[in-house]
Amino acid sequence: MNFYVLTLFPEMILSGLNTSMIGRASEAGILHIEAVDIREYSANKHYKVDDYPYGGGAGMLMQAQPVYDAWQSVTERIGKKPRCVYVTPRGETFRQEKAREFALEEDMIFLCGHYEGIDERVLEEVVTDYVSIGDYVLTGGELPAMVMIDAIARMIPGVLGNGASAQSESFEGNLLEYPQYSRPEEWRGRKVPPVLLSGHHKNIEAWRRQQSILMTKKYRPDLLKGAELTEREQNWLKEIERTEQNSQKEAELTEQNLQKEAERTEQNLLKGETE
Ligand code: SAM
Repeated sequence: MNFYVLTLFPEMILSGLNTSMIGRASEAGILHIEAVDIREYSANKHYKVDDYPYGGGAGMLMQAQPVYDAWQSVTERIGKKPRCVYVTPRGETFRQEKAREFALEEDMIFLCGHYEGIDERVLEEVVTDYVSIGDYVLTGGELPAMVMIDAIARMIPGVLGNGASAQSESFEGNLLEYPQYSRPEEWRGRKVPPVLLSGHHKNIEAWRRQQSILMTKKYRPDLLKGAELTEREQNWLKEIERTEQNSQKEAELTEQNLQKEAERTEQNLLKGETE
């Protein structure tokens, strides 16, 4: 898959994505990641790419012309107009399904904004997708582009060492991943769950599935609505919820009784003092 990143800071993209697994996949020719320096397309003799926004307001804006020319340099060279993602807080939030969807593309362009953003007119000309990495504002689009490229690239066969690992990870089937353990069997008094040492693959699989459901219930209960659970698993979850509610009620009752007991003791003590 080919990624073309339009940016004012190409060194940031290259140093961020040329290491570890993504770097190895690029070296092996599975991925091609290119940082296109927008500044090189400035028509200004001082390579200026920004100007004041019309109507006033704080900060500078990236101008349309250099962005458009940088985009055009890619589309003319490759002979097609692939999807062009503008990474921006205004976009839809990037999720695993989006990474999966983008991984089906052969080529993708990412446009990184800086300063106060980019002149709207060039966005209207070149952008096909507006995507955000979350509800907060960063100084530039380079980190969001890297986040997305990393997540997309891991979906591409051959990028991860172990081909199976992208399938049993968090968010697959709307569940989080189960807890994992490595050597030693005991660390600071904490033991590895015995089932994982049993060598019984069916039991291990069943345990991991249960743990995935429990992890999701604990950390991201919102995901469970979209998870595909068997009837048995749904009943098991309901049972757990009932038990939790009962123990919560019991804890509340104990708390109330302790409170009453303390009040009684205090009143008795006061009575004793006045007599
Ligand atoms: N003035 C813009 C606004 O209020 O939406 C913010 C501009 S921000 C300082 C500069 C650039 O960083 C943006 O053009 C965008 O490319 C990138 N950026 C900032 N936050 C982002 C986020 N949450 N997701 C994706 N890109 C982001």
